[in-house]
Amino acid sequence: MSHKVDTDLIPKLKNFGAFDVSACFNCGNCSAVCPLSKEDVNFPRRLIRYGQLGMEDRLLSSRELWLCYYCGECSDTCPRQAEPGEFMASARRYAIAGYEPTGIARLLFTSTLFTWFFITAISVFFALFLISKAGNAEEKRLFAFLPFELIHDMGIAVLIVAALVTFIGIVTMYLKMRRAAGPAVQGKSVREAISAAWRALKEAAFQQRFAECSENASRPWYSTRRTVHLTIMWGFLGLLAATALDYLLLLLFGKEPGMPVLPFVSDPNSPHYDPYGVYSAIRLFGTLAGIAMVYGSTLALKLRFTKPDKYWSHSRPSDWLFLWLVFLAGITGFLLEACVYMPDQAGFFGRVVFLVHVVASMDLLILFPFTKFAHAIYRPFALFFNEYLTGEAETAGAQTA
Ligand code: SF4
Ligand code: SF4
Repeated sequence: MSHKVDTDLIPKLKNFGAFDVSACFNCGNCSAVCPLSKEDVNFPRRLIRYGQLGMEDRLLSSRELWLCYYCGECSDTCPRQAEPGEFMASARRYAIAGYEPTGIARLLFTSTLFTWFFITAISVFFALFLISKAGNAEEKRLFAFLPFELIHDMGIAVLIVAALVTFIGIVTMYLKMRRAAGPAVQGKSVREAISAAWRALKEAAFQQRFAECSENASRPWYSTRRTVHLTIMWGFLGLLAATALDYLLLLLFGKEPGMPVLPFVSDPNSPHYDPYGVYSAIRLFGTLAGIAMVYGSTLALKLRFTKPDKYWSHSRPSDWLFLWLVFLAGITGFLLEACVYMPDQAGFFGRVVFLVHVVASMDLLILFPFTKFAHAIYRPFALFFNEYLTGEAETAGAQTA
């Protein structure tokens, strides 16, 4: 198979991160120390070669790109300070930009000015749209200020846009990986596919391979990057689930969403009366998910500011944007819960908090395919593809060893 050579690939990749991969003289130290690199899925040296040789297609079709968790061990041992770990991270950003069709991810990863412009524009658009549909000024109930049906319909519209872009990205990624894998994809059974999907899902959910990185031995468990990843991911998913269940209750029983977690309402005449505690349980679940999300994002922001190691030293505009949005959505969620207990449900302040919370949540959803958030879908898919191609062979090898 012939490969198109892009002689500008290294300068292009440099726009996506801080590293000097041209200093690499191919000693192979990085692949030797990488705890996740194996003979059949060799990185990062092989991918650095693709970059140096201008083999963009090979780079974008590498499932190895997504197997790296950026523990930084390769960067620490590189004799040329070529920062192979940062190369892998930059190449992943480049791949996200290469998979999605709009070009927005490319600009978010490379331009601070565009990042500010874009986030301001979509936030103002969402805010003005919501304000134009807001409840009347006499309305005393905080959660009636922005009708839930409106938030729900807006959320669905935003989700459809994000899902469409993500779907195109996944198909592009799949076609590239499939072409690169060649005949290896043929002759696989459905059972193998299901088994590979199960292993990939388990890995995506718990990131067990991440535990092999030495960072986990040098830091307490509550401040490792694995903890940051898992708390943000599970916190966000938990909040999405709680919001969806909240809305489902409204549809099924007409209960008004947004009631406080505590105290449980004992007055049977109250619109919030919840004899089985289901509603309160969902709110409690959402609160716990919110705590996880705020914890993860606060820790990540602190580490990006203090830069304790190489991983946290290289932040792109969209990395900051993503974390600040996660933090803002979480904090305003808690503020909202507090506003409910205040006199007049915090009045104007409460409504502003509600608006900021909804806008930050919509921003997060729509930015999904364009920021680091997209890892959440590309990584599991690459893991699946990798397991599909190599998993059975590894298992068989282990059994005969
Ligand atoms: S990146 Fe560094 S460790 Fe890896 S092959 Fe190049 S020079 Fe060697
Ligand atoms: S950052 Fe860690 S996981 Fe990624 S290639 Fe380097 S050593 Fe391997």
